[in-house]
Amino acid sequence: MQKTIGNVTLECVKGDITSQADITAIVNAANAQLRSGGGVAGAIHRAAGPELERQCRRLAPIQPGDAVITKGFNLPNKYVIHCLGPVFGVDKPEDQILAKCYNNAITLAEEYKIDSIAFPAISTGIFGYPLDAAAEVALRTVISRISQLDYLRLIRFVLFSDSDLSVYKKIFAQIIP
Ligand code: ADP
Repeated sequence: MQKTIGNVTLECVKGDITSQADITAIVNAANAQLRSGGGVAGAIHRAAGPELERQCRRLAPIQPGDAVITKGFNLPNKYVIHCLGPVFGVDKPEDQILAKCYNNAITLAEEYKIDSIAFPAISTGIFGYPLDAAAEVALRTVISRISQLDYLRLIRFVLFSDSDLSVYKKIFAQIIP
């Protein structure tokens, strides 16, 4: 599904974050050491190749809520923005830390004059954040930035399953009727 607010388009799609070839920057649901691993981080490091881990080593460790940017290497994307989401029940307040991830990623994207960005559902896998609550934080945070964007024109949320996509669609419809 797709909605345009001002001159910015928001999209929710089902897919793999490493297969967003039309997007300039993809976001990694990273770990503090910016290493490969399971979930999104594993998929991104496998697709980008070993040079990504080399560039990441110089930037690690990062704190919950932080975002750092690297090249995309073998990915079809020019950049990867690595965000460390909160571990649910551990890094508190979870909603503020998660919002900080989305805000910091958008700020970096604007600094690098990036026109399009794709986010996975940060913290909702291994880090245990309930998807509907995380979706609300993600969408509200992104929407709150729309009126001040100079470069971003397309913001895509990439969900890994039909059920995750339907949760995003439901929250989307509640926030932007
Ligand atoms: P975190 O450690 O921040 O929870 P995960 O990578 O474990 O990050 O999961 C974040 C979300 O991304 C989960 O909803 C998971 O289902 C989803 N996911 C896992 N692999 C991919 C992928 N290749 N593309 C898009 N989303 C993915």
